[in-house]
Amino acid sequence: MKHEEYDIVVAGAGIAGALAAAAAARGGAKVVMLDRNPDTTEGKKTNWGWVCGDAVAESHLDFVHKQIGLRLTDPILDLKVDGVLVLSPDLEKKFQFEGAGYSLDRPKLAKKLVEYAVKEGAEYVPLHEVEGPIVENEKLVGVFGRDHESKQFRIKAKLVIDALGVASTIRRKLPKNDYIENMVSTDDIESTGRYIYKFNPGDKIDERYYDPKNALIHLNQQLAPGGYGWVFPKRNSRINVGLGVEKKSLEVRNAKLGRKDTLHMLIDDYVKWNPHIHDVQLDETDNNGKGYWSVTVRRQFDSLVYNNYLGAGDSMAMPNPISAGGIGPAMVAGVLAGQVAAEAVAAKDTSMDFLWKYNLRFNEAYGSKTAGLEAFRVYLQSLNNDLINYGMHHFLTEEEAVEISYGNIPKITIASTFHKVLHGIANVDAFKNLLYTVKKMQRMNELYQHYPKSIGEFHAWKHEVNTEMKEVKEKFQPNPV
Ligand SMILES: Cc1cc2nc3c(=O)[nH]c(=O)nc-3n(C[C@H](O)[C@H](O)[C@H](O)COP(=O)(O)OP(=O)(O)OC[C@H]3O[C@@H](n4cnc5c(N)ncnc54)[C@H](O)[C@@H]3O)c2cc1C
Repeated sequence: MKHEEYDIVVAGAGIAGALAAAAAARGGAKVVMLDRNPDTTEGKKTNWGWVCGDAVAESHLDFVHKQIGLRLTDPILDLKVDGVLVLSPDLEKKFQFEGAGYSLDRPKLAKKLVEYAVKEGAEYVPLHEVEGPIVENEKLVGVFGRDHESKQFRIKAKLVIDALGVASTIRRKLPKNDYIENMVSTDDIESTGRYIYKFNPGDKIDERYYDPKNALIHLNQQLAPGGYGWVFPKRNSRINVGLGVEKKSLEVRNAKLGRKDTLHMLIDDYVKWNPHIHDVQLDETDNNGKGYWSVTVRRQFDSLVYNNYLGAGDSMAMPNPISAGGIGPAMVAGVLAGQVAAEAVAAKDTSMDFLWKYNLRFNEAYGSKTAGLEAFRVYLQSLNNDLINYGMHHFLTEEEAVEISYGNIPKITIASTFHKVLHGIANVDAFKNLLYTVKKMQRMNELYQHYPKSIGEFHAWKHEVNTEMKEVKEKFQPNPV
C-alpha cells in the first residue's frame, strides 16, 4: 500500500465497490480499494464464480454514464434484450416487466470497473481479505484483515465504504445500532443457483421456455417455491438458466409433497422441465459455468450510513425484492456513495449527519419503491400455482402488473370487475389480499416519499415502516402448494 492513511477505504471491488472507488477518486479523495481476489479475477463473488443471472436494465447503465462518464460497451454488454417477461405457472399468461436491458459478461464487467476506478485515481489492492471494521468510540476509523500470506493488516481512513456483498464482514461486526442491521432474516433471503450453458435451441422455438429476445421468468411454486426460475439468453447460443427458492417455502412444499428436494435438485429438475434445454454443455469460460449463492429480497436497510461508514450494493440488501436484480441498485448506490464520500472528505465532515444525504439520494434514485415491493413479494409467496394462474388471468391487467413491478400503485380497475370474474372462496380471499397488499404498498410508498431528511426524524419513521411491514408478514405465510 502506498500510504499509511487514506481518506476513504472501499472494501470490496465488485460492482458497488469499484464504482464507489471510481466516483470517490473522481471527486478528489485519496481512495484505496481492497478485495480478497487476485487481480486476475476481479469481482468474483465466491469460489463458484461471478454467480448471477447477468441481466441488467439499460436505465442503470445510462445512470452510470451520466454520473461518472463511464460508457459500457461490447463485449461487456453480451446481448441486448427487449425486456423481462414473467410467465404464469400454466405458461398461458406473460407480463412484460422492465424495459430493454442486457445480458452482461460479468467477469469482463468486473475487470472494466476496476480498471476505471484505477484510471480515476483509486489504488487497488487485491489479495486482502477484510475481516472487520476498526471501531473507536462507536466510529469506524478503518478496516482490518489478512493478506494472502495470512499477515494481518490494518488500514486507517476517514471513511469506510462497505461493498463486500451479501455476507459483509464489516456490516456483521458493526457496533449494535439503530441504523444498520447486522444480519438479514432468512425469510428475506433467496438461495439461488445458475448454470451457463452452450446449447442448441433447435429450429422450432417455443417462446414460453426460451426466447432469444427476452429474459424469461417462470413463476411456479412447485418448481421454485417462494422464488422463480429463469432462462436468460446470451450471445453465441448460450443461456443463463437458474432458480431461486425461499427456505420456509421450500420446507412447506417438501412437507406437503413428501419430498426432500434441495436447491440443487430443483435446478436440475427445472432444466429437465424445459424442452429447449437439451444437448447442453456447461460454458466453463472463466471457470464460471455453475454456481450457487444467496440474494436478499427485502427493502434496502433503513439507513445506509453510520458513523464514518457508508454501505452500497448487496451488503445493504439492495437487490429488488421481486426480481432479485441487484446489479442496477449496486451501480446506482456505488456511484452515489462514492460521490457523497468525496464531498464529505472535501468538507472535512465525515459525520453521519453529513453522510445522511446519501440516504436521501439513493432513496430518490432507486430505494423509495423497494418497501412496497417487499410487501408484494410476501403476498406473492402466500399464493399457490392455482391462485397465481387465476390472479394473472383475472386479477390484474398487464398494465397493472407492470405498474406494480415498478413499485407504482396501479389505478385498480380490477375492483370494478371483481364481482364478474371471481369464482371460489380461495380466489375471493386472494383477491381481497391483493387489495390489502396494494394499499400497504401505497402506504410504504408514502412513507418513503417522506424519507427522513435528518437523523432526528429517523426513529419515528423507521418505527412506522417496521410496524407496517410486520403486519404484512404476520398476515401472509408461505403457502406454495
Ligand atoms: C444466482 C444469482 C442470480 C442473480 N441474477 C441477477 C440478475 O440477473 N440481475 C441482477 O441485477 N442481479 C442479479 N443477482 C444479484 C447480483 O449478482 C448482485 O446484486 C450484485 O453482484 C451485487 O454487487 P455488489 O458489488 O454489491 O456485491 P458482489 O458482486 O458480491 O461483490 C462483492 C466483492 O467483495 C469481495 N469480498 C467479499 N467479501 C470480502 C472480504 N471479506 N474481503 C475482501 N473482499 C471481499 C468479493 O470478492 C467481490 O469482489 C443475482 C444473484 C445471484 C446469487
